[in-house]
Amino acid sequence: MIKMNTHYADLKESYLFYNISQKIRAYLDENPGKRLYRLGIGDVSLPLCNAVIKALHQAVEEQAHKETFHGYMPECGAPFLREIIAKHYASKGVALDSDEVFVSYGASDELGDIIDLFDSSSTALVIEPAYPAYVDANTMAGRKIVHLASGEENGFLPNPDESIKADLLYICSPNNPTGAVFSREKLQAWVDFANRHGSVILFDAAYEDYIEDEDLPRSIFELDGARTCAIEICSLSKTAGFTGTRLGYTVIPKDLNRDGMNLNSMWVRNRTTKTNGVSYILQKGGTAVFTPEGQRQIRQNINVYKNNAKVLMEALDKLGIWYCGGKNASYIWLKCPGGLGSWEFFDYLLNEIQVVGTPGEGFGACGKGYFRFSTFGSPEDTKEAARRLCELLG
Ligand code: PLP
Repeated sequence: MIKMNTHYADLKESYLFYNISQKIRAYLDENPGKRLYRLGIGDVSLPLCNAVIKALHQAVEEQAHKETFHGYMPECGAPFLREIIAKHYASKGVALDSDEVFVSYGASDELGDIIDLFDSSSTALVIEPAYPAYVDANTMAGRKIVHLASGEENGFLPNPDESIKADLLYICSPNNPTGAVFSREKLQAWVDFANRHGSVILFDAAYEDYIEDEDLPRSIFELDGARTCAIEICSLSKTAGFTGTRLGYTVIPKDLNRDGMNLNSMWVRNRTTKTNGVSYILQKGGTAVFTPEGQRQIRQNINVYKNNAKVLMEALDKLGIWYCGGKNASYIWLKCPGGLGSWEFFDYLLNEIQVVGTPGEGFGACGKGYFRFSTFGSPEDTKEAARRLCELLG
């Protein structure tokens, strides 16, 4: 009889977003027509910028003519996109070869696929609270997972500790859900740890464009020694509104070797076997993001979300509620007031002021008693939600 991957049975049911939608449905059934103020979503609300739309239209037109039509694209990415991304890194002071950049259909795909490079006996370290895909992808692969809890005492940015035994180290900065961002010094400690122990950091930089403080690292490759221990996974979803359009990129330095193998070469072999490249149209759209015009336009959208963050942070400051994130991140992570549990606070906000957020415990046990606000909603809804919060909790 066929043998199945029974590790799937080890996955914990993800009740978080299902529970949220059930609670919302029940509330709206009892209170038909009530308007909700949604600060729960991790999806963007603004459309793609003009530079991207123009490039997408143009690429569609090219596909209509024999002379300009493109069939299969190179599996690791179109040279024009890999080159413009490498130049973009150079502008941040990071020197990369364009063939260290791999174009992808987004960070989720990459987070799931990249662990193919590592033996299933390797151990993954997940700093919690965490984006759930890290744990789930490794559980499916039957990998052992070490959960490293973070908390207010370390600003949700734990330091490595020599007792940690792990091969794959997941680091997400700016973090989803906490919005915490590693300083250069704190991230350097993890880079040094990884080089000392022969582990590999999977650095999730999906929110790097939200960093505004010049002294915070936006790429792990800004740090000494990262080229010999890190892979950086990036996405245009939150930085350029590609959540539904799909495009991302992954950086694997040629200096990254483990167990006698070169990870860049392994990934070339993986991609040339398991993909046939990202569509020409999307790669043209993605290229527009890295032009001066594209950068200016995506910044305008990011600033709308940043203003949302300011509005919410001002409300929390006024209320004296502890939080982190918001300034260099698109999420705000707060301590539920009055000792309420995450779900109790969720129900309270929904029932009293129709504001919807995300209970912290959905991101790991140490998220209990915390709550996440997203800043990706509309400015009008965010302002009204902040006003209602102040009225209710003030
Ligand atoms: N990594 C983090 C931390 C995220 O929050 C998300 C999406 O919310 C992703 C990766 C996935 O991004 P993508 O849309 O590129 O698959």
